Amino acid sequence: MKILVLNAGSSSQKSCLYELNDVLPDRPLQPLWEAQIDWTHQQGIAELKVKTAKGDRLEEEFTSDSRKAAISRMLETLWRGKTQIINDLKEIDIVGHRVVHGGQDYQQSTLISPDVKEAIARLSLFAPVHNPANLEGIEALEKILPNVPQVAVFDTAFHAQLPPAAFVYPGPYEWLENGIRRYGFHGISHQYCARRAAQLLNRDLTDLRLISCHLGNGCSLAAIRGGVSVDTTMGFTPVEGLMMGSRSGSIDPGIIIHLLRRSDLTSEKLDNILNRNSGLKGISGVSSDMRQIGDAIAQGNERAQLALDIYIHRLRAGIGAMLASLGGLDALIFTAGVGENSPVVRGAACEAFGFIGLKLDGEKNQHSPVDEDIATVDSAARVLVIHTQEDWEIARECWKLYSHL
Ligand code: ADP
Repeated sequence: MKILVLNAGSSSQKSCLYELNDVLPDRPLQPLWEAQIDWTHQQGIAELKVKTAKGDRLEEEFTSDSRKAAISRMLETLWRGKTQIINDLKEIDIVGHRVVHGGQDYQQSTLISPDVKEAIARLSLFAPVHNPANLEGIEALEKILPNVPQVAVFDTAFHAQLPPAAFVYPGPYEWLENGIRRYGFHGISHQYCARRAAQLLNRDLTDLRLISCHLGNGCSLAAIRGGVSVDTTMGFTPVEGLMMGSRSGSIDPGIIIHLLRRSDLTSEKLDNILNRNSGLKGISGVSSDMRQIGDAIAQGNERAQLALDIYIHRLRAGIGAMLASLGGLDALIFTAGVGENSPVVRGAACEAFGFIGLKLDGEKNQHSPVDEDIATVDSAARVLVIHTQEDWEIARECWKLYSHL
């Protein structure tokens, strides 16, 4: 069975093709084909990169502002040219789309119907950058593969069982009635990591208390009890919670009132400040990329040092909050770009929890661990570094739905 996965970002479009048989493997398979389109470098120019499991590669640039047309070109590389791996697009059995916002109604992966599309469009109000991009991907595939089932896998779904005390904001009650509540994001990654953690620990997921730290460009924590997310740091939008690459994370809402009173701030400008010019980038003035923050610190840049200090301070505070929600901890998980690759961030985060007996093995932490336990034998809880595999998680969801069609 061939499963095509589509993952649409604001200015990127990723896709991959998996082949699975009747038994769902418990470890991720390598995709047969992976492709990525990037629109970030030159206005109106799409950069396409494709690679296959056989080692064939293709890179090209073409003029395109349209996601739909670009997806069409990208999928052509599946059945034509040097990266060809299938004879016909009709060999694809099911298509899975990552959809950022599923709101309150969509609490699990769902076959796409006109109603589901209408909901994704309606929820664009809450996720104005991502949901429209997801919808364009869905519509492009409906044209290209009209008879193939398509599945929406929601980033919010994993947090659908948060208790009310965790998801209701203490504003006026009407907020809740109008859908203004915590939804949480990065759910596909947190879900994958929770299951992988249970595998690595050789334990039953239903017995585990986990804190998953997804630290990429966007950052969020999830407190996971028995496989269920019971608390998370991102909220109504992905701006809440931890300090991130270019997002502020939580700030005093009084700052916004103050700025609105004193300047000609529009919602556009505010969005730009909080989403694109804050976080590591805003404080350091150097970059939103943790590697460049590290380089700048090595050259004595004090603002870069301050940015890292705030990042760690807030990460520790967030882990503390998740600990309180769980009432204990079996394993702390680090994942995504920073979580998987920064021994400095992992070390500093764990150091604060030495008082509860959490102990990192310094050497393991330094040596690029992948799906590995980096705690000492006598640590009170395990510390896992897990390579997140969101596309695989989406393929799994498709496999499960397909088996019930
Ligand atoms: P996204 O959230 O967009 O999926 P990623 O999970 O790929 O992002 O994370 C991207 C971030 O990971 C980069 O901005 C960079 O800060 C960080 N990163 C990647 N490699 C390293 C590294 N070797 N050391 C520290 N940080 C890294």
